Amino acid sequence: MTWGGIEAGGTKFVCAVSKAPPRLDARVEIATTTPEETLAKVIAFFREWRDLRSIGIGSFGPLGLDPDSPAYGLVTHTPKDGWQATPLVAPLEQALGVSVALDTDVNAALWGEHRHGALRDHRTALYLTVGTGIGGGALVDGRILHGASHPEMGHQRVPQPKGDAFPGICPFHGACWEGLASGPAMQRRWAAPPESLADDHPAWRIEAELLALGLANLVLTVAPTRVVLGGGVGTRSGLRERVSQQLTTVLAGYVRDPAPDTLLVAPALGGDSGVVGAIELGRA
Ligand code: ZN
Repeated sequence: MTWGGIEAGGTKFVCAVSKAPPRLDARVEIATTTPEETLAKVIAFFREWRDLRSIGIGSFGPLGLDPDSPAYGLVTHTPKDGWQATPLVAPLEQALGVSVALDTDVNAALWGEHRHGALRDHRTALYLTVGTGIGGGALVDGRILHGASHPEMGHQRVPQPKGDAFPGICPFHGACWEGLASGPAMQRRWAAPPESLADDHPAWRIEAELLALGLANLVLTVAPTRVVLGGGVGTRSGLRERVSQQLTTVLAGYVRDPAPDTLLVAPALGGDSGVVGAIELGRA
């Protein structure tokens, strides 16, 4: 038996199959172009696997996740050109004749880490990705948290550091968390890509403080026993340790068990948390 998974992103779709997750038997990356072209290539990849049982998708969003809504299975009002109101679930179900599950990219990564990675022994936990955006998923008592739709942790408000007049870059909110602390926000603020900024650049002190402020809200709200910090910026060497320190400062001794400086860990599945999690979402 073979199970499929897709990590659907704004620049690429990672597609993989597995007979025994988390081991991947095949994995391809397909550039995200138009929906028609991208989905045709995705379908062609999965067609090769005759004993394919299911596909799980962890996708960029926002997504329609309510099975009773006409928007179920769609990428809805995304800023991504050409992808507004694009069905993901129906075309794959029709073309491949298998069941297709859908959740957010970050919920898929959360689920991958819960089933096979750093969150295996944790029933209430968070997965936070900081890269081209900020996204968070919450596992609460062993289940992925859903509500009216899915959480949008990246768009919460955090206080700005004293004297900081950066207006933020979120097209909806300006200086929300993502607008202040995502990779593109860092790029705008410092006029340089974050990966080019040296370890002793003041950018990293501000970034650690901003991430800790938002994380403090999440820790106080969800009470996780562990938090995975992923994404291109989130896995920058040395940053997690600085965020842990700042988180301890922000929480000011109020949260003690677990100690805030022990909460944050790196993704154990590296770059495959999302696609492994997607496979597992499909199997469930
Ligand atoms: Zn926002």
